[in-house]
Amino acid sequence: MNGQETPLAFGDILNGGSKGGQFSGGIVFVGYGISAPRLKHDDYANVDVKGKWVITVRGIPGGIDSSAVTDDEQGNGAAKAHGAIGFITVPTGNFLNAMRGNPDAVKRRAATQETIRLAYNNEDRLPAVTAGPALADKLFPLIGETSESISQKAGSHGEFTPKDLGATLTANIGINTTTVKSQNVCGILEGTDPQLKGTYVILSAHYDHLKTAANGEIYHGADDDGSGTATVLNIAQAMAMHPPKRSIFVIFHAGEELGLLGSLYNSDHPAVPLDKTMVDLNIDMIGRSKPAGDTNEKDKELTDPNTIYVIGANRISSELNEISEQTDKDFENVKFDYLLNDPNHPERIYYRSDHWNYAKHGVPIIFYFDGVHVDYHQPTDTVDKIDFDKMTKVGRLVYETGWRLANLDHMLKKDVAAQAAAK
Ligand SMILES: [Zn+2]
Repeated sequence: MNGQETPLAFGDILNGGSKGGQFSGGIVFVGYGISAPRLKHDDYANVDVKGKWVITVRGIPGGIDSSAVTDDEQGNGAAKAHGAIGFITVPTGNFLNAMRGNPDAVKRRAATQETIRLAYNNEDRLPAVTAGPALADKLFPLIGETSESISQKAGSHGEFTPKDLGATLTANIGINTTTVKSQNVCGILEGTDPQLKGTYVILSAHYDHLKTAANGEIYHGADDDGSGTATVLNIAQAMAMHPPKRSIFVIFHAGEELGLLGSLYNSDHPAVPLDKTMVDLNIDMIGRSKPAGDTNEKDKELTDPNTIYVIGANRISSELNEISEQTDKDFENVKFDYLLNDPNHPERIYYRSDHWNYAKHGVPIIFYFDGVHVDYHQPTDTVDKIDFDKMTKVGRLVYETGWRLANLDHMLKKDVAAQAAAK
């Protein structure tokens, strides 16, 4: 910087990628790092990043629907497409404050950051690092911002001006790679109609949960997603007793908690063709309910015994949403809560379970979810806390909805503006 060499200190570079080696090149700030001319936004339009590192902030520019941006138009994919050699995220806002507040955690992460990717998705990646707080403070003035101004802009979808920082970065990134094998568990129940059986209704849940802690504490995952796998298995059994016209494809995804890996694999290498898939009904947590009088702040968004969050039903096919609501009226009268289906909800739940990997290819989906609660991702997510009445009721509803869809004489009309499906 400024013609001077600044050695990096331990904790300046936090590895977040899966590519190691020595990389050296100039540094170009590219704002949000989104290159989507079809959406009228291109952070790479006026800069040359060939052979250089790009620096981005996390966030989404104003006026852009984040679900419309494909993987190739943002992040590592966009940087690679423009010829960059590496990808740096500069922390802002709460993320930056959290790092400043916990220097030990920063050092730990610098030493041992684990990322897990599907093996076939690894080759194409650029090295990806996050700047630690000290390095970020050196970069902000070169970008033309302060830590406050950049945080404020990133948090409010503000505009950035991409620019070459006139500095170079040489980084040696050491990576240890271990290959781990896992598998999705799936099965097909053949439909009874000679024509319609060539099309599929997917029923899905994830069978993985979190690792056993270093101290031996077990994460049971009774609700997340024991409730979903047990329910899908029961629905499959019910369907097998009296099979519908279309075929039912049942899949228990692996690696959901590691980044939706099982469903990513099955949407990249589908066991049944996605264009012949009518719908994915994904169950991820339907076994908990908020007891009367529960004032725990962490249960704030947990649904009551007769309510379930229904997410995504109207995003691709309004016909699916109608069938979903009508089936509930006809049989179960569970209360549907659409709070988490709001595209502007900060939790972005629509993107956070396996159905998303089907939705992004244009497959209509419904995601059934009881809401985050005090035992979410804790060793205390145990079976004694499951509300089996609720789980049964929601399970019956998914069965009835799936049954109706699997006997429908036409594929669902996809009338809602396609999202990332355009890919
Ligand atoms: Zn889950």
